[in-house]
Amino acid sequence: MPWKRPLSGLYFSGWSVSRFEVMSGSVEMEVQSDDSPMPAAPKSWMRNAMERSGPFCLPDFDHRPGALHSVLGQIQVQFLFRRNDIGRSKAEVAANFINNRIPGVNVTPHFCKIQDKDEDFYRQFHVVVCGLDSVPARRWMNGMLHSLIEYDDDNTPITGTNIPLVDGGTEGLKGNARVILTGTSACIECTLGLYPPQVTYPLCTIANTPRLPEHCIEYVKIIQWPKENPYQCEIDGDDPAHLCWIHEKSVERASHFGITGVDYKLVQGVVKNIIPAVASTNASIAAVCANEVFKLATGVCKPLNDYVVLNQSDGVYTFAFANEKREDCLVCGRKANILNIKEDAKLEELISKLCQDDGARMKNPGLTTNVNGKQMTLYIATVPSIERQTRPNLKKTLTELGLVNGAEIVVADETSPMSMTFKLNFI
Ligand SMILES: [Zn+2]
Repeated sequence: MPWKRPLSGLYFSGWSVSRFEVMSGSVEMEVQSDDSPMPAAPKSWMRNAMERSGPFCLPDFDHRPGALHSVLGQIQVQFLFRRNDIGRSKAEVAANFINNRIPGVNVTPHFCKIQDKDEDFYRQFHVVVCGLDSVPARRWMNGMLHSLIEYDDDNTPITGTNIPLVDGGTEGLKGNARVILTGTSACIECTLGLYPPQVTYPLCTIANTPRLPEHCIEYVKIIQWPKENPYQCEIDGDDPAHLCWIHEKSVERASHFGITGVDYKLVQGVVKNIIPAVASTNASIAAVCANEVFKLATGVCKPLNDYVVLNQSDGVYTFAFANEKREDCLVCGRKANILNIKEDAKLEELISKLCQDDGARMKNPGLTTNVNGKQMTLYIATVPSIERQTRPNLKKTLTELGLVNGAEIVVADETSPMSMTFKLNFI
């Protein structure tokens, strides 16, 4: 006979879940006994995630009403908003909506950048769910969670320090979700190749041989606007007058080249770099993420291993696969980061190596080192006064800067919350 028991963080060995429901004031799960084979025993990380007490963000997680509390990114926002919410913080509106809609649930909004919170903030949580809108933000969160892991003498993550990360993302009719058991499975940085570089159009195509409506809009945005400067200011993608001007000029240019398909919505999309959000894709991916959190929090079955894709652009297609963890990963690899570079290379070449697609894919790295026991700033672009002072170093060779084979360079970049150390290996 089925009966109800409160949702517990313990592993339900030998029980199958027939129904999970959120009831007024409490989260309860209906379970029933059956003769199906016992699920495999959870690994230590799983037990750790499951048996920690307190809500997802508090040490005394006791699964009582209101216990569900986790970091919500931007997973599925448009269902939660109404017209009179315009102008209010998305996080606050979404939290209010959910709190009012589902009694017993307590979502705490934080209206700030993810980078504004420190290690102590993230350390409180038992699971982190990301629905972020950019790759750098994902890399940052991935770096943050990995920086919290403590390892024992055998290089095994110490249970209690590894927080699982569930990540979801959509792009139009396509989406993906993944579960990262930090320190154990492949991390975001291991699989950077999954994220294609942002679509950009070569300037020569835009200027001379446009073939797509996007080429015509890009031309007006990049070349015609600065030349004619109709409003004596930079383009504001939220200003209808600016968009109308760009639309009009783009249509003119498109008709000149016999191209059709330039409309206001496309202009808005190209100018603001918008990828249309499709509610069904977002809902499916949000559901996968929620399902994975449920599995992690209860241990009813194994979590996704470790990546699932959804493609609805031509029929419906889905596929799951496991990513491979890279031993030389800059974030989760436990090896020293070796940077192979020519002895006579200039500092600017070293920096471009750090930014390359097949390298660390950094954005704007700042570099410091230690020469003869003295701290030395090699180059930092983000602080104008230091940038001016260190700019001449870019043209110097590594040896001219006093760097020797095996020297360590500390690199800070916006893609990671922690700085990384690279050991130079002259080739
Ligand atoms: Zn990794």
